[in-house]
Amino acid sequence: MKADLVVVGAGLFGLTVAERMASEGRDVVVIDRRSHIGGNAYSEIEPTTGIEVHRYGAHLFHTSNERVWEYVNRFTTFTDYVHHVYTTHRGEVYPMPINLGTVNQFFRSAMGPQAARELIAEQAAELGGREPQNLDEKGVSLIGRPLYEAFIRSYTAKQWQTDPTELPASVIARLPVRFTYDNRYFNDTYEGLPTGGYTAWLERMADHPRIDVRLATDFFDGSHELSKSAVVGQVPVVYTGPVDRYFDYAEGDLSWRTLDFEEEVLPVGDFQGTSVMNYADADVPYTRIHEFRHFHPERDYPQDKTVIMREFSRFAGRDDEPYYPVNTASDRERLLAYRELMRGEDQVFFGGRLGTYKYLDMHMAIGSALVMVDQHLTTSGVAR
Ligand code: FAD
Ligand code: UDP
Repeated sequence: MKADLVVVGAGLFGLTVAERMASEGRDVVVIDRRSHIGGNAYSEIEPTTGIEVHRYGAHLFHTSNERVWEYVNRFTTFTDYVHHVYTTHRGEVYPMPINLGTVNQFFRSAMGPQAARELIAEQAAELGGREPQNLDEKGVSLIGRPLYEAFIRSYTAKQWQTDPTELPASVIARLPVRFTYDNRYFNDTYEGLPTGGYTAWLERMADHPRIDVRLATDFFDGSHELSKSAVVGQVPVVYTGPVDRYFDYAEGDLSWRTLDFEEEVLPVGDFQGTSVMNYADADVPYTRIHEFRHFHPERDYPQDKTVIMREFSRFAGRDDEPYYPVNTASDRERLLAYRELMRGEDQVFFGGRLGTYKYLDMHMAIGSALVMVDQHLTTSGVAR
């Protein structure tokens, strides 16, 4: 094996590192235990309809980071898709994230921004000006208890299966709350979907003569020349798999959430009229339904068929795909212990959502990979 760097994981973090290092003249081997590149951003065409399906749940690209935007545009153009989400609560559909439309529909009112702010401030007053300590308190402080209980509490309980008082406030701080009728889901400057699909984008990143991709190759399977035991200490490694797995769970298991997706092809042209419908109530077992045709209204998709995907959430066991770091107080303690171990691993660089146990969106994974290349890989010991 001839390599200046081994990258474990062909997700957006690993591909960004590989592409940048290859363009700097380094030979990079990328391994992934899956049979495809792209990590969780991977998509494929559903064969009976021709509709692009995001295999690991809907992925919407958005960023305000100029450097990331410039970088991703080297590999793909983006459509002008703007994400909107609706949610069903007690048989009624409301716009998300919570905005003046949601507030007025919920309270059967016609308030202007000022009156709505005053009402929410009154309903949020139970915190008495105290800094919110967890997701539950943050939710109430942002939108007051009635809206929190209708739209956030049960959805969050379904999605995280953890008491919201144990979840970090940052999870919900992702969602904007607006006192206008603007119901764009994201606040970022740039937003869109890769025009030719995710896989074409990701393949272009990996398409470099100095990048050698080996699929269906598990870093912890000792039987090949790219395993942990064969590589660490010999060649610099960028590791983007789960951090607890790397250390053989020495500091205990970090908690992760996994998802089960139930895909269905339906004989109708349009099932729900929008790309994502959340289900806020506890009695519906799934969190949301994605309908993929709506991500690409510009494409010529069939008019008599559609693809939907129901998303179910549960705790991940060691054999499940870990998708979301749960990040309870005890996880954070374990993570500190793992960070200590990470510091002791010479020439192993931990990155990405799984490798750092951080709730990173795609633009954040790419942005942090670019920083790792600048600060640690091109300037330090990664030899030619
Ligand atoms: P990953 O994409 O997870 O890649 C890690 C790779 O490492 C995987 O391919 C895995 O197979 C491989 N690997 C792990 N262990 C091993 C091993 N032992 N040996 C070899 N390979 C290994 N972001 C957005 O910006 N917008 C969205 O709308 C959005 N929606 C999301 C929806 C869902 C359901 C999920 C789960 C994530 C979503 N994200 C979204 C986040 C996005 O998926 C991540 O930011 C991105 O995937 C991070 O890239 P990564 O390279 O860190 O990790
Ligand atoms: N959330 C909620 N109700 C909704 C949508 C989101 O309670 O209808 C909360 C929930 O806790 C979720 C968080 O807001 O985990 C972030 O939502 P987002 O849609 O950003 O999550 P993701 O797409 O990453 O799963």
